[in-house]
Amino acid sequence: MAIKEQSPRQRRVRIFLRRSPPFMRCTRDRRFNGDIHVRHSRLCSTTLGVLSAIALSGHARIAASQPSNPGFVIAHVRVFDGRQSHTDRNVVIVGGRIQAVVESLDAWRHLPVVDGTGATLIPGLIDAHSHTQNVTDLQQALRFGVTTVLDMFTDPAVEQGLRDAAKRRVDVADFRSAGVLATAPGGHGTEYGIAIPTVARASDAEAFVAARKAGGSDYLKIVLNGVRAARGTPTLDAATATALVRAAHSRGMVAVAHVESTEDVRIAVSSGVDGLAHIWREGGAAPDIAELVARKNVFVIPTLATPEGFVKNSGVSLANDSRLRPFLSDTIIALLSGSAKGPVIEDFKPFLDAVGSLRAADALVLAGSDVPNAITAHGVSLHRELELLVRAGLTPTEALAAATANVAVAFKIPDRGMIAPGCRADLVLVRGDPTSDIMATRDILRVWRSGVEFDRRATPAEAKSREPSIPAAKASSDLPAESTLTVCR
Ligand SMILES: [Zn+2]
Repeated sequence: MAIKEQSPRQRRVRIFLRRSPPFMRCTRDRRFNGDIHVRHSRLCSTTLGVLSAIALSGHARIAASQPSNPGFVIAHVRVFDGRQSHTDRNVVIVGGRIQAVVESLDAWRHLPVVDGTGATLIPGLIDAHSHTQNVTDLQQALRFGVTTVLDMFTDPAVEQGLRDAAKRRVDVADFRSAGVLATAPGGHGTEYGIAIPTVARASDAEAFVAARKAGGSDYLKIVLNGVRAARGTPTLDAATATALVRAAHSRGMVAVAHVESTEDVRIAVSSGVDGLAHIWREGGAAPDIAELVARKNVFVIPTLATPEGFVKNSGVSLANDSRLRPFLSDTIIALLSGSAKGPVIEDFKPFLDAVGSLRAADALVLAGSDVPNAITAHGVSLHRELELLVRAGLTPTEALAAATANVAVAFKIPDRGMIAPGCRADLVLVRGDPTSDIMATRDILRVWRSGVEFDRRATPAEAKSREPSIPAAKASSDLPAESTLTVCR
C-alpha cells in the first residue's frame, strides 16, 4: 500500500500516541492531544503519582549515595531525546541520572563541562534481540554505545552471572533476558545442546511460565518455527502459544514470538503476543499481514542484520569502516570479513520490502541484531541494523527511536531510552547528526552508562569504567532549585 503522506514529526507523534502505555501517553497527550489526555486522565494521574514517587525516592538515594559527585554537563549539544531533535541543549547529569535538559547553562556553570559542539547526544542504544554468552559480549556492546541488551535466550548456566555482572558493574551493558525460550519438544532452540525444559501442550504453559518468572526472566520468548516445521522440526501449536501468552500476561510479562513465516505471524498475533522477533523470511512485502500486525499493536523486531549476514561480503563494510575498525578485535574483523555458515542469500530485497510494508502500515518496528547469528558481532551489528532499517524505508529518526525510546516503551522499561529528567544517564555522544545520516551513529565520541564514562579504547581485558573527572564535593542542597527530578518520560 502507499505510504501515507505525513511529515516525519506527525508520524512519530502518531506512533507514540498509538503505542505508548498509559503512563507515557499521558505526558505526551498533554502536549499533542488534549482529548485523549482527558480520556486517560485518571490513569495518568495515578501512574504519574507512582512514578514521581519512584523518581523522587531515586533522587534522595542519589543525593545520599553521591556526596562527592556533583555531576557534569554535556553542553551545547544537539539532543535526540528518543523521539525528536533539539539543537543547542545542555544535559545535566547527576548521580547517574539526567537531572535537567536546559537551553541555558547559567545555573550549572559550577559543574564540569563536556563540550558537545558539533555532536549529537542520543540515548544509549538498546539491542532488542541479542544472545549473550559472557561478560565480554556485554562489554563489546557497550563499546559501541549499546547500553542495554535484551537477550532472547542464553544458556541458563550463564544467565544469572550476566544479570549479576550487569547490576554490579557499569563497564558492561545492562542485561535483561527472556531466560529459557518456550519451544516444543525438539523445536527450534533445542538444537544447541543445552538441556532446557520444553512445552509439549497448552496445559504445560502455566508451570513453564511460572518457572521463568521465578527464575528472573524479564519477558517471555515463544518459538513458532513454521519454516523449520516444513522440514520436520516440531513447533508450538496455536492453543499452546495462546496459553503461554495468557500465562505471561497474568504475571505482567511482555510476550514475544520468534516467527519465520507469515503463517507464524498470524498464529502469534491471534495468540495475543506483544511483539514479534524476526521478519517473515519469504514473500517480501505483505501489506495484509503488516496491517494486521499494526492493527493489533504488535511490535516487530525484524533482525535484518542476521539474514543479511548470509549475503556475500555483507560484513566487509562494517569491518572496513574507519569509525568502527579501531574498536574491533582481530577475531571480529575476521568474522565480519568472512562468510556465514549456511546457504547464501542472493537477493536481500524481499527482507527489506517486508519491513517496508510494516513501515507503510505504521507498525512499530524495533532494532535488534540477533547477534551472534550469521556474521554479526555484539554492539557493532546494531549499527548495521539501523542502516538496514533506513534502507527498508524508516527515516533515520524513526530508526533511532527504534533503538531507544520505542524499545523502552515496548518492553516497559520506563527508566531509559530517552534523554529527559529522571532517566538513567545511559548516553552516547556521536559526531555529526544521525537524525539526518544514520551512519553517524558509528562515529562515537564518548559513551556513558549510568553517568559513568566507558573507556572505549581499552582492550577487553583492560576495559574499565572511570568516574568523570569532577571537582570537590558539593552538597545536594546546593543544586539549583529547578533541578527537581521528574519522571523519565
Ligand atoms: Zn535470536
